[in-house]
Amino acid sequence: MGKYWNEKIECMEREEMLALQSQRLVKQVRHVWDNVPYYRKKMEEKGVTPQDIKGVEDLYKLPFLSKADLRDAYPYGLLAKPLSDCVRIHSTSGTTGKRVVAFYTQNDVDMWEDCVARAITAAGGTKDDVCQVAYGYGLFTGGAGLHGGSHKVGCLTLPMSSGNTERQIQFMQDLGATILCCTPSYAAYIGETVKKMGLTPDDLKLKAGIFGAEPWTEEMRQQIQASLGIKAYDIYGLTESSGPGVAFECQCQHGMHINEDNFIAEIIDPETGEVLPDGEKGELVFTSITKEAFPLLRYRTRDICVLTRGKCECGRTLVRMAKPMGRSDDMLIIRGVNVFPSQIESVLLKMHNVSPNYQIVVGRENNTDTFEVRVEITEEMFNDTIRSIEELEKKISQEMLSVLGIKAKIRLVEPNSIPRSEGKAVRVIDNRKLLD
Ligand code: ADP
Ligand code: ZN
Repeated sequence: MGKYWNEKIECMEREEMLALQSQRLVKQVRHVWDNVPYYRKKMEEKGVTPQDIKGVEDLYKLPFLSKADLRDAYPYGLLAKPLSDCVRIHSTSGTTGKRVVAFYTQNDVDMWEDCVARAITAAGGTKDDVCQVAYGYGLFTGGAGLHGGSHKVGCLTLPMSSGNTERQIQFMQDLGATILCCTPSYAAYIGETVKKMGLTPDDLKLKAGIFGAEPWTEEMRQQIQASLGIKAYDIYGLTESSGPGVAFECQCQHGMHINEDNFIAEIIDPETGEVLPDGEKGELVFTSITKEAFPLLRYRTRDICVLTRGKCECGRTLVRMAKPMGRSDDMLIIRGVNVFPSQIESVLLKMHNVSPNYQIVVGRENNTDTFEVRVEITEEMFNDTIRSIEELEKKISQEMLSVLGIKAKIRLVEPNSIPRSEGKAVRVIDNRKLLD
């Protein structure tokens, strides 16, 4: 499977992994204590010193870091190495507020790219593959991350960046791309454009896709797989912990394996901060134990998911995280009910004649929340009778009510009327924020 199938690490016995993590954690805590006054102060406030951290079992003693801390310490407050030792800066996409910046030494870049190389390898990538990177290049970690990983594996790398979709597909065809890397919403758009250009999956050599950077459902996976004739793999990461590659899917696709030799994962109750046992849903927290320049300890991701331990059928023992259902701050509270956009996507894509393009519009009228879901229907459906369109509307509405426990106004809209995304999709328009 090539150089980035790291059997020793990926299939390591739990005891051995814990010993490795413990040893790295102890060293990392000392590094942070000595070099990051911001975090040292937090430790002091909690009455913890490096001597208290002897291994993974002591992790819970450390204070959390949150996005607010990162903004507070912007730009250099959490830097643990002199700037002269850093070689790269990346920044979050700013989906949920002010951007934060992250710093990398050369070792940090190497570690990150190794993680991505493992992901590409797990998706079947080898040096014989042609890997088209259609994540955005720039401050966003998607382009650079997959690009670096692809190089490490030895794939012939096509650094397309996102956008210019017809040209993407032209190159994909002419140069025989076998692996496509981009956000799932962009992959869906590429699939749609392939069809529009009069092509079928048989005209392409693609076999796999590595899609991440935003939540996507199993239903979306099916749609993309069918439209591009590929097997679609999930990849997860965040700028604060380097970028994509923190976790990745194997062939079995029962959750994403976390690169535990570099990241320790915990699930906590977002309200109380208490660590939850495996199998319980909560907020994902990461401690990076090998990063040099930006070594965040107990960073609260706000991503909501579940961890599963135990050996996977692929042989890996690395802990698995379920697809995050979204961030705690993506969650909408509509008329007092908690709603995640991914639940809505899941309902819609189970229906026939509905495209994976939708938008959720929330507002307020007479002190009550309004909740509308705009759904694009297929060309065939659009030309169908008004009666069958009304029936579809009713069906979606009923299904939505039973899944969400709240009534949504369904508005079916004509094909191509909802803006497409080349990066992370914007699914929610919350007009209540403007009113507040
Ligand atoms: P921003 O926080 O501004 O979007 P990033 O580009 O660093 O900045 O995005 C990281 C976030 O993207 C994660 O915290 C998570 O919410 C989301 N994300 C990344 N990969 C996935 C994935 N495979 N599934 C669901 N969400 C993901
Ligand atoms: Zn596996």
